[in-house]
Amino acid sequence: METTSAHEQNSGAESKTKSATAMNQPFQTLLNGYRNGNKHAKRELERILLGNIAACKKELSEKRAALCNTLQGQQEVSMDSPASGIRLEYNSDFVLLRQEIQVLANGLNDLMGALGRVGAGDFGFCSNCGTEIPCERLELCIQTDQCLKCKKEGEKSIPKGCY
Ligand SMILES: [Zn+2]
Repeated sequence: METTSAHEQNSGAESKTKSATAMNQPFQTLLNGYRNGNKHAKRELERILLGNIAACKKELSEKRAALCNTLQGQQEVSMDSPASGIRLEYNSDFVLLRQEIQVLANGLNDLMGALGRVGAGDFGFCSNCGTEIPCERLELCIQTDQCLKCKKEGEKSIPKGCY
């Protein structure tokens, strides 16, 4: 039996040297901590996810604004030539933006799901077969809820998301 010395608290004065220290903490350590029921690790994971969610939301609103601009541009064009007014021709910008927004929206959805799983205590486990998702995979794709094997099985029917 190993005795885990998890009670070593670095109780120095809370030096708030920005996120530098926290971000340098290896993901593996964080994940192990979380799996051992460490509340700090759990909060840190939530913090990372919330950061990702905020970034994702920001990007989404920027893309949506850009999408509105392409639509407005097109409407102005169609005002000049009322004959072709009804038909909106979706240019490549529009199509590309719409795809990007879809991908971002899916990503945001996945991130929210991951945040929920952190809270529920089943973050890092495959939602399909229940095995632990390897750390390297989670580090690359924190929002994933499936192990690589299940993901690949699923991709045969629906290709989606990262990996
Ligand atoms: Zn699985």
